[in-house]
Parts: sequence; structure tokens; C-alpha cells
Amino acid sequence: MIFSNLHTHCWFCDGHASMEEFLRFAIAKGFDSYGISSHAPLPFDTKWTLKKDDYDDYRREHLRLKEKYADKIQFYVALEIDYLGDFSNAKNEYFKDKTFDYIIGSVHYVDKIPGGRFWNIFGTQEVFQEGLDNIFDGDIKAAMLRYFECEKEMIKLGGIDFIAHSDKLASRASKYEGFSINETWYKNAFGDMLQCVKDHNLKLEINTKSVEEKGTSSPHPQFYPLIREMQIPVVVNTDAHNPDNVDSGLRKTYQLLKQAGFKSINVFYDNKWQETEL
Ligand SMILES: [Zn+2]
Ligand SMILES: [Zn+2]
Repeated sequence: MIFSNLHTHCWFCDGHASMEEFLRFAIAKGFDSYGISSHAPLPFDTKWTLKKDDYDDYRREHLRLKEKYADKIQFYVALEIDYLGDFSNAKNEYFKDKTFDYIIGSVHYVDKIPGGRFWNIFGTQEVFQEGLDNIFDGDIKAAMLRYFECEKEMIKLGGIDFIAHSDKLASRASKYEGFSINETWYKNAFGDMLQCVKDHNLKLEINTKSVEEKGTSSPHPQFYPLIREMQIPVVVNTDAHNPDNVDSGLRKTYQLLKQAGFKSINVFYDNKWQETEL
């Protein structure tokens, strides 16, 4: 099989090592294809996105390393673009004159806290609770439904190749009483989002970032059979922020996908999307 990881970070955003260090780890682990995908700049300051002015350096460093290690690995360049309505999405002016090998779509923010900032659903617990209380009156189900709506808006808008960690909010929501991914309403909402992915010919990421630590990928493995049944193409990535994690959880996840009936996954290789046997 073509061994690939297409969702990773480095010093250009919130990764904990240089682009070159990540790539060297990827080569040491035997990857055939590796992609760097910094968080795209947002219209407000954050500590975890690529700076607007760093774009040229980002592209230059990718090209330098792509050439330097060309005989060892295929190295691709991407961005992980946040969807935040008109405020941030893959169709924004900033991206118009820029090209990448592929684009990842993610939802890390849901709506705006009244009178305040956009609600970062993966920030501190304090910020999470503030948004939940002030936007959704503490209703975790309403927040979850709105999250899936945001993902569907992002999918319909287009300009992305695959959607990252599409049920990531569920692991946080699971800490709230009464929330369960086994509820019918949840399965329906998640299923609707999957249908939207399929209808728009996108790919779905199986994100293995938390496989070692929390024992689950995003989406949760219990949905693998459904994803398989719906014949949605999947891309398996680690979302590594540390070089040690470039292959974290991948093999375990390949096994679970096989058990769920998957025969192949999608990879970016030889400058195009293609299937590789599991
Ligand atoms: Zn992300
Ligand atoms: Zn990421």
C-alpha cells in the first residue's frame, strides 16, 4: 500500500518542530507520501495559525524540502482552512492567487459569542462553557446540531478536498450529562453530514490524532461500517503536531477499517488523488 499522511503541522502554525524535522521523521517511518497542512491565516490574531505574511516563506520552505528529499519521499503542500461563514472559508479573497496540492476543510469555531468573539470549540473549558451558555443556553445538543450545520455549509461551499475530524466536538460533548453518540438524533445528524460529503463528492478524513491517547479516531470507529456502506472515500491522517506522532494510530485504524469492510483508502500520490489497497 502507499503509506501516506496528509494532515500535519509544524512551526509555521502550532506544530512543535520545523517542517524539515517533521519530514525527516516521516522519511524515517517509511512514508511514501507526506503533506504539510498549516492552519490557514484567520482574519483575527491567533497563536495557532500561519501568519499572513509568512505565506511566501511557507511555500519556499516546502519547495526547498520537496527538492532536497525528492528521492526519498513525495512531499506535498496544503492548508487546513477554517470555515467560519463568510468570515473565513476556502473561497475567501486571500486564497484566490494561491495554489496548493489539496485543501483541508475544518470547523474549529461555531458562531459568535454575543458581544464577543467567535466561539473556539476546542479552546479552554472556560471558553467552551462561555460559548455553550451564551449562544446555546447550555444546550449541548443544540450546539452539536449547529456544528454539523456549519460543516454542511462548508461542504456545500466547496473549494476543499476533504473534511477533517468531522465529529471532533462529540468527544468534548460526551463529558456533558445526557449526551451520547448512540442517540438517534445524533446518528441522524451525523448521517446527514455524511450524506452531504457524498453528495458533493468530497472525501472524509479519519483523523487518528487521539487514537493512542483516547482510544478513538474522528469520526468514531463505530461509524466506519456506515461510512463504508455509503461508499464515502476516506483519507487517513494523524494531524501530527509533534514529529513523534507522524504515524500515531495509523496502523490500528487501518485494521479497524479493514474489519469494517474497507478494501482501500485514498491517498495523494504522483500529484493526484488515488486509491491504495489496505
Ligand atoms: Zn483541525
Ligand atoms: Zn490539523
